[in-house]
Amino acid sequence: MTGTLNRPTDAAGVDERLSAQAREFLARPHRLLIDGQWVDAADGRTFGTYDPATGAEITQVAHGAAADVDKAVAAARRAFDDGAWATMKPCDREQILWRIGDLLEEKGELFAQIEALDNGKAASIAQAVDVKFAADVFRYYAGWVTKLEGSTVPVSMPFAGDTQFHAYTQRVPVGVCGQIIPWNFPLLMAAWKLGPALATGNTLVLKPAEQTPLTALLLGELCAEAGVPDGVVNIVTGFGDAGAAISGHPDVDKVAFTGSTEVGKLIVDAAKGNLKKVSLELGGKSANIVFADCDWDAAVQGSVAAWMFNHGQACTAGTRLYVEDSIYEEFTQAVADAAAQTPIGHGLDPDTVLGPLVDQDQFDKVNHYLRAGIEDGGRALTGGGRHGDTGYFVEPTVFVDVKPGDRVVTDEIFGPVVSALRFSDVDDAVRQANDSMYGLAAGIWTKDISKAHHVASRLQAGSVWVNQYNGFDAAMPFGGFKQSGWGRELGKGALDLYTQTRSVNIQL
Ligand code: NAP
Ligand code: MG
Repeated sequence: MTGTLNRPTDAAGVDERLSAQAREFLARPHRLLIDGQWVDAADGRTFGTYDPATGAEITQVAHGAAADVDKAVAAARRAFDDGAWATMKPCDREQILWRIGDLLEEKGELFAQIEALDNGKAASIAQAVDVKFAADVFRYYAGWVTKLEGSTVPVSMPFAGDTQFHAYTQRVPVGVCGQIIPWNFPLLMAAWKLGPALATGNTLVLKPAEQTPLTALLLGELCAEAGVPDGVVNIVTGFGDAGAAISGHPDVDKVAFTGSTEVGKLIVDAAKGNLKKVSLELGGKSANIVFADCDWDAAVQGSVAAWMFNHGQACTAGTRLYVEDSIYEEFTQAVADAAAQTPIGHGLDPDTVLGPLVDQDQFDKVNHYLRAGIEDGGRALTGGGRHGDTGYFVEPTVFVDVKPGDRVVTDEIFGPVVSALRFSDVDDAVRQANDSMYGLAAGIWTKDISKAHHVASRLQAGSVWVNQYNGFDAAMPFGGFKQSGWGRELGKGALDLYTQTRSVNIQL
């Protein structure tokens, strides 16, 4: 959709709210990063990336495809095999990762503005959350570089008589990693992927989502500035075919993916050829459980943020809101009232909290579910339609009178839409919360801490947040039960995704 440019622009049509650095970046060509060089796609093609608040094109970006993936993988292979990165002194690799974190914060406004323009999220939130967290992830993994220890193993080998042995293990990098990321947290997902892969000495090819390629390119520039050697980080912007070329590539040793469960399954199939290692962060339909004994104001605000943060475009979004019977009407009305107050606007407006959905496809998908909610017998306490007539904005929507099995209750919508259901007691809450093919996250609101522990221990979810929601930390493992994924990112867990163990046994 092409909308009118509903934003302050100068004579050249450039948004006046953008910093000089952001304008300078946008005016440059946006090429692929292969072996330390910025290059055009092999066939010279480019594609447009768009401002979802207006539908206007922001800039053109190189359209990478299989031939470019081949070159990027060859560069990553050379950089891995020459050993300069994997065998760099750990204290030096640590400093480089730390420097990436520092540079990210120094350039926080630039990253946040470009993210706001490309993705639609508020620049103020992007700087305070996405950039800050991304910097913290690089620093967290910087700390691990000097601590990747193996162990000495007291082997017995009873069949070997009196012979003595000295046996130990080493943790070594997996090799060339393909990393495919989505558009909802473009910079942050790149950081979650690059941080642990680089800390452990791997080389990589990153493919950002077609909707949001820009901050990954900025991050590529910043890695070079921080001292990452040529060929260690390669970036191929493009579409799903480039992602498929990475996941099926015979010289890629590991693929890490964040995105839809549907594409996650395609990646598993594609990875079979050379049995590359696979880690997946997939979809969710997370339960947020509110007990009558909650701290009311905190639970209302927290429950709104649970599904509305990032315009509902979060894999952890708490979009199944389970409310104890006795407070159902009053609580859902309070949630609807608070949601209706949320300032909606362009990501570069300082007051914006809720921005647009990322593109036409996502807009159509969410509108489909707004209709499905009503068709299946639900009622919208607030919202239910489009906001404005330009860009991909939808109103925050609270559905009540929905039933288990309704499409808005079972499906990942990826928009600012919540379905509120009732429960009678702890067993009923747990049973309903676990009734999903997904198992990514869950929230619990109660002042009874014993009850909170008890419920947390029964939830089939990779992350459980009590009296808060989306409580992420670089040190806390994150990932899904059931069809929400394979493996854990963040924390120590991600080191396992990017290392393998070598056992060495020496006869003395
Ligand atoms: P998607 O298709 O799973 O996209 C994620 C990434 O995978 C993008 O970089 C995409 O490339 C790439 N890709 C697409 N097809 C591929 C293939 N066959 N092999 C390898 N890589 C491939 O997600 P989407 O279409 O953008 O969004 C669809 C739905 O997925 C959303 O509505 C939402 O429900 C869910 N989603 C979940 C998350 C999450 O964090 N769990 C994130 C995003 C979306 P291009 O998109 O650039 O072509
Ligand atoms: Mg897609």
